[in-house]
Amino acid sequence: MYNIGIDVGGTSIKAGLVEDGIITVKASKDVDKSMGFYGVVRDIEYVVNEILREKGMTIEEVRTIGIGIPGVVNKDGHVSCVNLGLKNDPLEMKLKEIFSNVKIVVENDANVAAFAEYKYGSMRGYDVGVMITLGTGVGGGIIINGKPFSGAHGIGSELGHIILDSNYYDCNCGNNGCFETFCSATAIIKYAQKLIGEGKKSTILQFAQNNIENITAKMVFDAYKENDEVAISVVKRFKEYLIRGIVSIVHFIDPEIISIGGGVSNANEIILDGLEEELNKRVIYNGNGIAKIVIAHFKNDAGILGASAL
Ligand SMILES: [Zn+2]
Repeated sequence: MYNIGIDVGGTSIKAGLVEDGIITVKASKDVDKSMGFYGVVRDIEYVVNEILREKGMTIEEVRTIGIGIPGVVNKDGHVSCVNLGLKNDPLEMKLKEIFSNVKIVVENDANVAAFAEYKYGSMRGYDVGVMITLGTGVGGGIIINGKPFSGAHGIGSELGHIILDSNYYDCNCGNNGCFETFCSATAIIKYAQKLIGEGKKSTILQFAQNNIENITAKMVFDAYKENDEVAISVVKRFKEYLIRGIVSIVHFIDPEIISIGGGVSNANEIILDGLEEELNKRVIYNGNGIAKIVIAHFKNDAGILGASAL
């Protein structure tokens, strides 16, 4: 029997057949956002059929289809996702109708990525773990006793919206001061643009061919390595709030391990430098040990791997 993992993203749906923790067959399809719920169902059906065809197998040989979705999943398998135009749509039920006799599990994508790290990657062997994904936004995935945890209503791992301070711009969620407005790639870029816009000289601007709009988080970290003053200010601010976010998570859940993933985590040396030491200083009862901080193992395949193991 086989397991299929599906990673539903804002621009494409990726699927994989996973055997012993390895993706052996892949399929993907671009998403047509205007098609809404039925478009998502049709695209999932398409990628599953592609995998069956490629492998030369039938749906009767599939035990589980796991799906990670960039939104909220409630206990009945209804999903809501702003980017895909889904609002409390019965995804799990609809897929059970189409693929009868197959176990269908739908989970939030950040929890799925955390589950992949728990099953096959950086959090393997730790029963209580938290994954923080630093990308365009900040995502959170929580594993408790070896299972993804998202609370009573499916919104319990929205770590990116923990409020850490007041900030100079509002979060997309409508609040001010969310974790992701300080520590996402978007936040890093915005703050570098702000300082440069205020007239501070920086090599970041040269990396961006003198166009402030071209600035990326990578350019900021590259300039930091060259002791650029603006980059130092941006990275200092980013790390201060990353620490605050991690301290809040430790005081709230006290995980054994925290894994940092997402595009920003490519700057792993800069991120990890001094982090555990600072955490030690700020956690109130630190005599019994504190969460280990690591960089996530998977870059692109976490969604498929984690979903297949649900
Ligand atoms: Zn927010």
